[in-house]
Amino acid sequence: MIIVLKKNATKEEVEHIKEKIEALGLAVHLSEGKERTIIGAIGDESKLSEAPLEALPGVESVMPIQKPYKLVSRDFKDDPTVIKIGNTDIGGSEIRVIAGPCSVETEALLIDCAKKVKDSGAKFLRGGAFKPRTSPYSFQGLGEEGLKYLRSASDETGLPVVTELMDPRDTELIAEYADVIQIGARNMQNFRLLSEVGKAGKPVLLKRGLSGTIKELLMSAEYIAAEGNSKIILCERGIRTYETATRNTLDLSAVPILKEETHLPVVIDPSHAVGRWDLIAPMAKAAIAVGADGLLIEVHSDPENALCDGAQSLKPTKFDMLMKDMRKIATAIGRTL
Ligand code: PEP
Ligand code: MN
Repeated sequence: MIIVLKKNATKEEVEHIKEKIEALGLAVHLSEGKERTIIGAIGDESKLSEAPLEALPGVESVMPIQKPYKLVSRDFKDDPTVIKIGNTDIGGSEIRVIAGPCSVETEALLIDCAKKVKDSGAKFLRGGAFKPRTSPYSFQGLGEEGLKYLRSASDETGLPVVTELMDPRDTELIAEYADVIQIGARNMQNFRLLSEVGKAGKPVLLKRGLSGTIKELLMSAEYIAAEGNSKIILCERGIRTYETATRNTLDLSAVPILKEETHLPVVIDPSHAVGRWDLIAPMAKAAIAVGADGLLIEVHSDPENALCDGAQSLKPTKFDMLMKDMRKIATAIGRTL
């Protein structure tokens, strides 16, 4: 249920309304927008019939949210969510690029990559220390050692780091090193993990599952938001279809649909979507044209010898050229990069 407050509602009135809702056993989430303040009452809505909220001072109207996702929906919050992370942000008019290798390999390689992507204009460094590999015999990541390298690359460059959390037991460890916690495609519906990451309170990059619908992605985001953490970046990274020419099929229409349904920032990961370095540039440019707030791109200085996802990694020189081209498209649609 959403409770729309009057423009002149006083602090005391807001407190009183919150207390009433909490006394009925529902959780209260406040959304203070530019135009209006809204209270989201989440829980057993039948309880609300016991209290005529419309009658409370400060209340303008009470409306049910028809959608199954509530806190992440545009009904609850109309203004786009801009998430501040370190010295940058995501979700505003500037398009942000997250770049770096698939997995953290050596400290020297990572720092070199971080410096290069930063020079080209990336605002975040990515790299996996815990890798979700299809085969148990493939490189699984460096674990905590990799997290340490990420931290030193961040200290060296000032770029905040994005890294994946796969197991609820590692939440504290990852939260200690990461600026943004990534939930990978394979874990989009790992509900315990989503709740844990919600409780951790750090910004989250939530990737769409290989066979996850847009609605399911939003429901997964709702799990995180329900824990009081709305610093969620949604990521379209390709879905599984019958097509085999690309690793997955990039669902570009997810961007305008998500932008309509939710206030959360939306980014595109063309690397995991197409799985081929030669297709990254056209799809990255298309992502900007359809309104993505950011991109996640795998960059490696020696893709041929990369321990993971070399075939879809751009060399730093190619990445730099792409950034220049993307900038032109951003300008054409009235945004910056
Ligand atoms: C990754 O970002 O390295 C990754 C494993 O992505 P996904 O979960 O989208 O496959
Ligand atoms: Mn990868």
